[in-house]
Amino acid sequence: MKAVYSDKHRSHDPQFFLVRGQVRRTTEQPERADRLLKGLHDGRHTLVEPGDFGQGPRARVHSPDYLRFLEGAWEEWTQLPDYGPEMIANFHPNRVAGSYPSHIIGKLGWHTADTACPIGVGTWAGACASTDVAVTAAQLVMDGEDAAYALCRPPGHHSYRDMAGGFCFMNNSAIAAEHLRLKHERVAILDVDVHHGNGTQGIFYARSDVLTVSIHADPQSYYPFVWGYAHERGEGNGLGANLNIPLPIGTGDDGFVDAIGVAAKTIRSFAPTALVLALGLDASEHDPLAALKVTTAGFHRIGAAVARMGLPTVIVQEGGYLSDILGANLTSTLKGFEAAR
Ligand code: ZN
Repeated sequence: MKAVYSDKHRSHDPQFFLVRGQVRRTTEQPERADRLLKGLHDGRHTLVEPGDFGQGPRARVHSPDYLRFLEGAWEEWTQLPDYGPEMIANFHPNRVAGSYPSHIIGKLGWHTADTACPIGVGTWAGACASTDVAVTAAQLVMDGEDAAYALCRPPGHHSYRDMAGGFCFMNNSAIAAEHLRLKHERVAILDVDVHHGNGTQGIFYARSDVLTVSIHADPQSYYPFVWGYAHERGEGNGLGANLNIPLPIGTGDDGFVDAIGVAAKTIRSFAPTALVLALGLDASEHDPLAALKVTTAGFHRIGAAVARMGLPTVIVQEGGYLSDILGANLTSTLKGFEAAR
């Protein structure tokens, strides 16, 4: 399987975020990509440089206001007399009867869902490179590859049409799905990150042409807390085109693979002609977040179960944090996928 990668992710190097009231070093670091890249080398995947697709694919998913904000955020921020080293909002308006703000601090609050998406000098460039990586993988599949992998960093699945959150700025999986839609009438996204893919769900919630399925740790006790429940089934035209499968904390390989079986049934009945696998590896038993207990062998089974759906597949990297086994879990997932094709 070809794997798309660019060094440009390095310009996004966030230093801290706020968690449980404490300032902590962020876990979404450039070294993640180094470890994932080692996993690709170990799996002998052919590396492909991304193309430059410009703003078009981003603009099919994200709002003009939001893209303008992200692009110009750092420059506006550094015109404040007492700006800090990274942009983190000091308020998050709830948007009830609100007006779009003109001040950078207002816009920062408007466009960020939480304190885990600090914006620095190189965030826009890194996030743009990440969407290009995703679109290039989608284009490879549209051009006839059976599957392609996109090493996206920063990740994307917590970002909404006009809002960043949870280390994510632009929704790479959604952007890949929209790109596939240029050729495919119906596309499914299966998100196996340990966190619910709330941004992806939000983007397609009222759409009947893109099915969103997410398997994740139970949001009753896990981020993102207010989305990811089984009763969220979509709205309007999209009613029935969203499926959430929350798993109890501590679920291991068997429970996760069973959930993929449930997802596969829904995906089959939706009858898409292409699939995006939003591949978080943070369901690992060794992930620092440690909510679920998937083993390296379990990721092989997950890859195989997804491959057996028989759809042209774009695999987009989402979460998965620093552990000694991060690269091996990627190698194992992709090997499992290839073995079942
Ligand atoms: Zn995650």
